[in-house]
Amino acid sequence: MRDVKENLAFIQGQIAEACERSGRKPEDIHIVGVTKYVSVERAAEALEAGIRNLGENRDDGLISKWEVLKDKPLWHFIGTLQSRKVRNIIDKVEFIHSLDRLSLAKEIHKRASKRVKCFIQVNVSGEESKHGLQPENTVEFIQQLEPFENIEVVGLMTMAPYTDDEEALRTCFRRLRNLKEEVEGMKLRHAPCHELSMGMSNDFQIAIEEGATFIRIGSALVGE
Ligand SMILES: *Cc1c(COP(=O)(O)O)cnc(C)c1O
Repeated sequence: MRDVKENLAFIQGQIAEACERSGRKPEDIHIVGVTKYVSVERAAEALEAGIRNLGENRDDGLISKWEVLKDKPLWHFIGTLQSRKVRNIIDKVEFIHSLDRLSLAKEIHKRASKRVKCFIQVNVSGEESKHGLQPENTVEFIQQLEPFENIEVVGLMTMAPYTDDEEALRTCFRRLRNLKEEVEGMKLRHAPCHELSMGMSNDFQIAIEEGATFIRIGSALVGE
């Protein structure tokens, strides 16, 4: 397996290129290192290489790494979150990328001891296998979150379709950005919605060109 450091240098080069093409600044792009497939030692290597944000998609995976690394990284929960698992992870995470239903919002609000930064997951591609709100229901859903004071809607998140069709990916990311701008324009106190969590190992350059501020990189950074 290659050094995380080498992988990170390569990814940073690709980020710089994508920023160059789209008139953006690399410092505005946050890399979330996704460690779900790898050991805690490998996750620690990512921290040594300079990664600050780590993402896990299961409660047990997050907890076992948290027990060793504690709050050295900022933890992101990026996967489907069952309501009954919320209390296991809530005081360990800084960000949740997968808020997509009111029952989950209620549970987060109830269990959190401080405000949690949440991304609303949107199923832009419409693929049935994917979680998330339909785009047309997203604004109303966000309005309904106002009473939950422990939730701050920092942005929107999507998983692109699994394809190498560049135009399809671009369309997906662009739709999420448009939706984000719509919510942002509403200037809701509980939902500033400035961020876009989109782009993974095989499509992050396109996501950056279309406005991503958080990219979630697993295999290209730490391996599978
Ligand atoms: C696994 C995962 C990633 C990272 O995927 P890679 O293709 O390995 O970069 C990103 N986001 C979510 C929600 C994931 O589950």
